[in-house]
Amino acid sequence: MRGLIVNPDLCFGCRACSSVCPAHLIALRDEDGRRFLRFPGVCDEDCSRCQEVCPPGAITLEEVAGAPEAVELEFVLRRCTVCGRAFAPEKALEALRPRVREAVGGGELPWWDLCPSCRRGVLAGSVAQAASPLAAG
Ligand code: SF4
Ligand code: SF4
Repeated sequence: MRGLIVNPDLCFGCRACSSVCPAHLIALRDEDGRRFLRFPGVCDEDCSRCQEVCPPGAITLEEVAGAPEAVELEFVLRRCTVCGRAFAPEKALEALRPRVREAVGGGELPWWDLCPSCRRGVLAGSVAQAASPLAAG
């Protein structure tokens, strides 16, 4: 059988694996400001998508003798500083912040602690503000 082994130190709860799993074997649950991800321990499907998409390389698929137990990991979700909605794991945001900062050329990321919806609003506001001199009659 093929074991699905997840490294809890590397996994930051981004849910990329559960989103792409065609057999819905990786269960995701967000409740009360926490995210729970349950990994099956074994997967004999002809597939390796979860391993391929995992940003930190936390998933290993390999032949094993005994059946590994299912594993559930828990993550604290960060709350949006504007609307208060719990939107993404603290661990993922902290792991990805340096990469995103580098990708945008350094500097602070004032929108980093906002949920996607509020982030869109703030960015749209910035664009509107930048365009306002053009609109002035
Ligand atoms: S290998 Fe494929 S089917 Fe198995 S858990 Fe990962 S994504 Fe799902
Ligand atoms: S894709 Fe990787 S880091 Fe993201 S939740 Fe799955 S195992 Fe964890």
